[in-house]
Amino acid sequence: MGAWMAGKPLADKIKAEVAEKAAAYKAKTGRIPGLAAILVGDNKASQVYVRTKERTSGQLGISSRVLRLPADIDARSLEARIRELNRDEDIDGILVQLPLPGHLDPWETVDAIDPRKDVDGLHPVTLGRLLQNRDVFKTCTPQGVLTLLREFDVSLEGKEVVVVGRSLIVGKPLVIMLTNENATVTTCHSRTRNLAGVVSRADIVVAAMGRPAFVTPDFVKPGAVVVDVGINSVSDERKVGELYGDDPGRRKDLAEKGYTLVGDVHPAVFEKAAAMTPVPGGVGLLTVAALMKNTLEAFRRLKGLD
Ligand code: NDP
Repeated sequence: MGAWMAGKPLADKIKAEVAEKAAAYKAKTGRIPGLAAILVGDNKASQVYVRTKERTSGQLGISSRVLRLPADIDARSLEARIRELNRDEDIDGILVQLPLPGHLDPWETVDAIDPRKDVDGLHPVTLGRLLQNRDVFKTCTPQGVLTLLREFDVSLEGKEVVVVGRSLIVGKPLVIMLTNENATVTTCHSRTRNLAGVVSRADIVVAAMGRPAFVTPDFVKPGAVVVDVGINSVSDERKVGELYGDDPGRRKDLAEKGYTLVGDVHPAVFEKAAAMTPVPGGVGLLTVAALMKNTLEAFRRLKGLD
């Protein structure tokens, strides 16, 4: 029987620290950190994520600006808008909400961000410095995974960690961060052979695949620590019933929202794991907290504060 590694208490603690420091900087300089989010088109999930970032910034004393741009904007105009933000002294952090519409290359777009304002930690300069194990804005979701493991005293040194997923926003930077922490890391992806066999070697499993409840108990070694990064909205009542039985919270989600959020890890894994992160209420909350922390840090550096 496992234990839950809930993200909320830690995310609340990080956010309270950010708010306290932002207030202290404001008292000292009269200025507050500024975060700009660029949202292109009308992707529903992206709109929700950007609203959460906007709301959280406001709660912590960080100003937020959202540039809502039309889905058919061309690459040059989009990059021009980013360059304006690079020059704007009221803006310390810039993020481009992904995914972008198909005609826009996400990485060409991110290239336009001034690395000093790259609070999502996705610019090639930031990722290059991460490879060199230098001081950088750590990519938000992998940073969230690491802070959560640290909070629950899960040591990484010498441990076998298997990361399932190799995207640039989660899997790959996480693999580098874990390696920098002296873990022995294996990366898996859609071409991995015998996925269950590889994952079952792990002391620590991180699932970041975008496949609801894919990692079942047969993937997991008894006593492993399991971090579920996946956030999948599932609306199929039968599937939700199979996963959670009559769980009242899930039934309420379906009735009120028409979907419930399911991780990449099957709920039955909890019985086999030493500890596991919940979905929702796990890594997702720490991703936002990491963004706020990075924005405060960008402000501190750009304004030359101690
Ligand atoms: P991507 O779709 O960019 O990447 C998915 C990765 O999983 C790919 O590397 C893919 O392999 C791998 N994969 C997919 N299917 C399989 C399979 N059957 N077997 C093995 N590997 C597989 O997703 P993201 O990295 O952006 O996101 C992953 C999940 O994390 C999603 O559910 C997303 O919603 C969630 N997420 C959560 C965040 C949070 O704050 N908690 C933040 C960001 C994402 P290949 O490379 O071969 O295609």
